[in-house]
Amino acid sequence: MQVTLKNFTKTFDDTTVIDSMNLAVNDGEMLALLGPSGCGKSTTLFAICGIHRINGGQILFGDRDVSDVPSQKRNVGVVFQNYALYPHLTVFENIAFPLSVRGDSKPDIEREVRAIAALTHIEELLARRPAQLSGGQQQRVALARALVRKPDVLLLDEPLANLDAKLRLEMRSEIRRIQLETGITAILVTHDQVEAMSMCDRIAIMNKGEILQIATPTDMYRAPVNKFVAGFLGNPP
Ligand code: ADP
Ligand code: MG
Repeated sequence: MQVTLKNFTKTFDDTTVIDSMNLAVNDGEMLALLGPSGCGKSTTLFAICGIHRINGGQILFGDRDVSDVPSQKRNVGVVFQNYALYPHLTVFENIAFPLSVRGDSKPDIEREVRAIAALTHIEELLARRPAQLSGGQQQRVALARALVRKPDVLLLDEPLANLDAKLRLEMRSEIRRIQLETGITAILVTHDQVEAMSMCDRIAIMNKGEILQIATPTDMYRAPVNKFVAGFLGNPP
């Protein structure tokens, strides 16, 4: 589903962190929000998923204005760097949780959990608890839990930041594979330009609460709009 921000504005106390941002994420696209630490990436994701109220503008899912819709009533899947699994529940129960909350029947839950576990390659892990999983396996479970309700949009906030280099590479291509197989609209927040370039259809590059350029990785690399974009793409932080 298309996700649109129109003149999105966010302030904390007296500070305007995002001032009238416009962004349209196409249906089925994976878009990177790329920029240095503190530029407003997470603030933008929190607004899209409804954790934060916005101070101005609109957020649309398709044609529906969700600006005033509370988080639980927006159909979004989220994977945050520190959005932990429930430690006392098994993998199956972790993934089933959003479906139980919705009141799905037991057979429906069983079927949906097994389908998403197959997609994310964790069928062998369903009886384990989070402490018995590697970091990469935990991220697969978090993804499965985020996707099990077939959300309108998948929001990923630095999902690979806690993984070691080898796992990070593996999970880059796994997240992209899963996004392509489901066809879900996804927004990946990252400060890592290689991650953005290798995983996403387009990149929106941000600095200080503003989007400076939106383009495909190739176009942005070939024709950056200014020195900041060129420098940020060229010099890994
Ligand atoms: P990023 O995710 O790009 O690193 P954030 O969106 O977390 O950046 O933060 C953007 C700016 O908003 C930063 O200057 C940060 O200090 C400020 N900020 C974020 N959350 C809050 C909050 N709850 N209260 C006050 N300021 C905040
Ligand atoms: Mg952040």
